Amino acid sequence: MSKDNFALSTGYLKKVVPLLMKHQVPATPTNYALWYTYVADSDTDLSWHINESIQATGTLSETQCEQLYQSHFADKKVKEADDFQQSLQALALEMGNTMEDTLKDTDTFQNTLDKTFSQLSRVGEETLSMDETIAVVRSAVKGSNQIRQSTSFFKNQLADAQREIARLKETLAQANEEALHDALTGIFNRRAFDSELGALANSPPPKGFSLLLCDLDHFKNFNDTYGHLMGDQVLKLTAKRLSDYCREGIQAFRYGGEEFALLVPNRQLKGACRVAETIRASIDKLVIKDKKTSKKLDNITVSIGVAQFDKGDSIRSMIARADAQLYEAKNLGRNRVMPIP
Ligand code: GH3
Ligand code: MG
Ligand code: MG
Repeated sequence: MSKDNFALSTGYLKKVVPLLMKHQVPATPTNYALWYTYVADSDTDLSWHINESIQATGTLSETQCEQLYQSHFADKKVKEADDFQQSLQALALEMGNTMEDTLKDTDTFQNTLDKTFSQLSRVGEETLSMDETIAVVRSAVKGSNQIRQSTSFFKNQLADAQREIARLKETLAQANEEALHDALTGIFNRRAFDSELGALANSPPPKGFSLLLCDLDHFKNFNDTYGHLMGDQVLKLTAKRLSDYCREGIQAFRYGGEEFALLVPNRQLKGACRVAETIRASIDKLVIKDKKTSKKLDNITVSIGVAQFDKGDSIRSMIARADAQLYEAKNLGRNRVMPIP
């Protein structure tokens, strides 16, 4: 190979690398020399042997490569050519390992190979010494290393980004969760109530739905007597008791200060009033104790107004009816459900 036809040699090189990969031949100096000579068709006897084997078995084994090298090259000791071959072999080996490992199965692999070879071809158009040629090869190897580094950098960046996205998703889910829950009692808040009632009113369940508005009785007195912190404990306890009734689609919300709401799907007024009565009775039975002194405190009771969602109802008109019933329950003496179940 003359230093004048480097462009031609890069053309051969471009063919050798895929052949080494295709036949799964390790890119050793001997194998490289063998396949380079085959591609250049500069040894007709060697080409004939290789073609014979490929025709018969579809490939050329490592052992066959070794034998052919022995019979065709072993005695040719041209140092300069050897050096050059080794440099090209280093390129083939490094590019094979580097790019195959990092860019396997991607279009980028082919693009990068093409780019590298076209660089080599351009340089080859000039007259270069052997040393300069080797330098070009080394620089191409360096280029392939950079590709590996940038690929691994990109992979790391991608992994970092994926971790960050997962973290943000979690934060967002948590924020959404918090936005719909009441901080003191942990049950759904007014915002969740508005949204859920809106959804039910938009597409009511087959058997309709009802609303329970529950208001603690004389809660101001309770606070005044036992303190606000104790009042908070009672609110938590009440919320927990209401949650116990959240079955068959029933949902409990903290509607306001000491007011709670329940949405009861698939129940008309009568059925909903029965649910309300069960709840009222169970809160009436709650025994509230001062944790420190274990002293039993006054009973907590609740009044409940009930309304079913009627044809032509709006959210507002339904709430107004439940509210009117709650007012009625208070007027009639509290600790009761209206309408009468
Ligand atoms: P009624 O039977 O007519 O409902 O009497 P009430 O005292 O419960 O009603 P009122 O509306 O006069 O007072 C409500 C009280 O609820 C006043 C307020 O201190 C108390 N309250 C509201 N939110 C909280 C809260 O988050 N914690 C505590 N401890 N008390 C609250
Ligand atoms: Mg109230
Ligand atoms: Mg009250």
